[in-house]
Amino acid sequence: MKAKIFENRIVLVTGGSSGIGNEIARQYATCGAKVFLADIQPAKKDFPFEFIYTDVSSVESVSNLFKEIRKRVDHLDILINNAGISEFHPLEEMTVEYWDKIINTNLRSVFLCSQAAISLMKHQEACSIVNIASTRAFMSESDTEAYSASKGGIIALTHALAVTLSKYNIQVNSISPGWIVTGNFDALRTEDHKQHPSNRAGKPSDIAQACLYLTTPGNNFINGSNLTIDGGMTIKMFYEE
Ligand code: NAP
Repeated sequence: MKAKIFENRIVLVTGGSSGIGNEIARQYATCGAKVFLADIQPAKKDFPFEFIYTDVSSVESVSNLFKEIRKRVDHLDILINNAGISEFHPLEEMTVEYWDKIINTNLRSVFLCSQAAISLMKHQEACSIVNIASTRAFMSESDTEAYSASKGGIIALTHALAVTLSKYNIQVNSISPGWIVTGNFDALRTEDHKQHPSNRAGKPSDIAQACLYLTTPGNNFINGSNLTIDGGMTIKMFYEE
């Protein structure tokens, strides 16, 4: 039985219907929070989430999301900007439409939702925004330009927001997950796990627990930071054999 440390807290999780976002939403709900989900697909009905259809890449849809939230509650305590798409195209074939789709879904959405959330958060004692970036903000495989740029942008946007929103006691941090298995964890090979210094790949609960930590009332001395959660993969040095 989890302590109800988020009792009466109101949380919005974008992209909360599946994967990492759904686990984040479940953990807040388990700890007593009222949770709104903003996603392009409905969540399974196993938790009493309030679902609002939202395409975070659309200015109109984000505006509608916050109009809907305002009809139902008068404030917001925690915003988790999690929605994102992981798509990779060969650089030389990449179109500007593809570039815009990734940047608008992964990065512009964080600006839009954070900006829209301010008026619901600024009268609270302490509120918190957590942006889900990626270790791909810091290191790359080939042909990942749009995704990597979107995630690097989130890291920079996070520290800018933390400074700007300090006047309202809104704390802003990011989390950079490494390989988080949202499907069948048991389908991974031993070498998939063993390449991590932690000897395993990640689970959505690893990221959800970090969200709870960053947004726990009283933990507001962590601000403008990025928390890398990747089982140690980005601190590992590789030399050709
Ligand atoms: P996921 O399983 O695909 O879940 C993302 C959710 O967001 C899905 O419900 C998805 O709907 C929804 N979504 C997609 N586009 C949307 C839009 N325009 N507006 C609103 N909702 C939208 O992804 P995940 O693996 O949990 O990833 C969550 C976040 O973590 C993303 O920002 C991702 O970049 C980041 N991340 C993940 C990993 C990882 O290894 N899993 C690693 C680093 C960072 P559909 O299913 O219909 O697309």
